[in-house]
Amino acid sequence: MKPTLKINLNKIYDNAKIVKDTLDKYNVDITSVTKLHCCNPVIVDTLMQAGIKKFGDSRIDNLKNIKDIDAEKWLIRLPSISEAEEVVKYSDISLNSEYDTVKALNEEAKIQNKVHDILLMFDVGDLREGYFDKKDIVDSAKRIKNLTNIRLRGVATNLTCYGGVLPDENNLTNLVKVNELLEAELNTNLDIVSGGNSTSYTMFREDNPVKGVTNIRIGDTILFGRDCTYRSHIEGMNKDAFIIKAEIIEIKEKPSIPIGRRGFSALNSKPEFVDEGIRKRAILSVGKQDIDMDMFPLDNDTKILGGSSDHLIIDITDSKKDYKVGDTFELYMYYTATLRAFTSKYVVKEFI
Ligand SMILES: *Cc1c(COP(=O)(O)O)cnc(C)c1O
Repeated sequence: MKPTLKINLNKIYDNAKIVKDTLDKYNVDITSVTKLHCCNPVIVDTLMQAGIKKFGDSRIDNLKNIKDIDAEKWLIRLPSISEAEEVVKYSDISLNSEYDTVKALNEEAKIQNKVHDILLMFDVGDLREGYFDKKDIVDSAKRIKNLTNIRLRGVATNLTCYGGVLPDENNLTNLVKVNELLEAELNTNLDIVSGGNSTSYTMFREDNPVKGVTNIRIGDTILFGRDCTYRSHIEGMNKDAFIIKAEIIEIKEKPSIPIGRRGFSALNSKPEFVDEGIRKRAILSVGKQDIDMDMFPLDNDTKILGGSSDHLIIDITDSKKDYKVGDTFELYMYYTATLRAFTSKYVVKEFI
């Protein structure tokens, strides 16, 4: 059996509904971030049934998957000038921080006879993308105003990515103020302030909204039922919508400490070992080319020992089940593991 990614659509639906209901109370809309599942149209359809109408992906190739779906499509990674034609073709809004790029989008929009919407990214401290200086963003916005086929809709910021900086009243209010500054300088109305990702959801969940934020872009919390600020499971949401199922190709009893002089293991780590005596281990035919280690066995009495590019080793000593070679074994996955499973061509995708 090939490794299989089992996707539970009902669980995703339930999670989306909870997040949407919470944000509706504050009139904040959701852009559901789809890069984890490569913008899978079946998952997008499920999210639409839960009332979500905007989808954001970092890659144009992914957005092509939903080109015929009637929803608003956002490109959330800064566009490359070289892909301007496709950006205008496949996205309705893109997030930008470079005038030259916006100018290229304008040229393309003219050719395609479209108006392309943009948000300007402002960096409030996490130090990934975005204008850092208020004068800079104002100057750019003024030049952008003269572009005939570009419409500036507001601002966005990215948090808790490079620097791990959390959203708070202070940095998000700073973003809202930048939007107000642009509105004043351009003498226009800008209706979108997109205040971060899943970590910003925590603020609303804790009834601590920031006035002026109108949108957040959420991937993780909807897909994994996880509070990303505390990295903890949210009571009442589903953490196991994505399960990897793989076949056992070996079961043997071995010592818990490797024998011999030790260098680096596969994929560059230098693991530490604890002596727990002889343990019964199962090897699964799936590895880091298809998954990552942020996952948990459904059988609570087992645990992951490690893995390399094509193997995953599980300690099954304490399990109540009598596993045999040829049996399958299941684990639920968090972000990185699921991301790889979606990208790997060796993994079969199955909806349940
Ligand atoms: C990935 C991404 C998001 C979503 O982040 P989550 O932590 O999955 O909610 C939002 N905005 C941008 C720009 C992103 O790249």
